[in-house]
Amino acid sequence: MARGPHQAHVAVKMKLRKGDTVEVRSGKERGERGTIMRVLPKANKVIVEGVNVVKRHQRQTQARIKGGIIDKDMPMSASAVSIICKKDGPTRIGHDFRADGTKIRVCKKCGGEL
Ligand SMILES: [Zn+2]
Repeated sequence: MARGPHQAHVAVKMKLRKGDTVEVRSGKERGERGTIMRVLPKANKVIVEGVNVVKRHQRQTQARIKGGIIDKDMPMSASAVSIICKKDGPTRIGHDFRADGTKIRVCKKCGGEL
């Protein structure tokens, strides 16, 4: 079977999007909620505001007059977070179509649009 060049890099289809509110489902920050700031589809990771924060000590340089500690939100596995449904809380994402054919993301529990 012939393979086109467009098939060379098949990224995992990310269901999560920037701006989604998610809850951490595993790890030491389980139960924490935050908003997705960035989606990294190739790595299947997301950066969630205020979650998985690492304190970075910064050295004083000429460019940076004040040294000190800054908070950095680190990428985390997309499979470790769940999207929040307003009705059900953490849920899984399904797909559905509107009457006009637009593909939408829905809650797998209640079917409501996410
Ligand atoms: Zn729901």
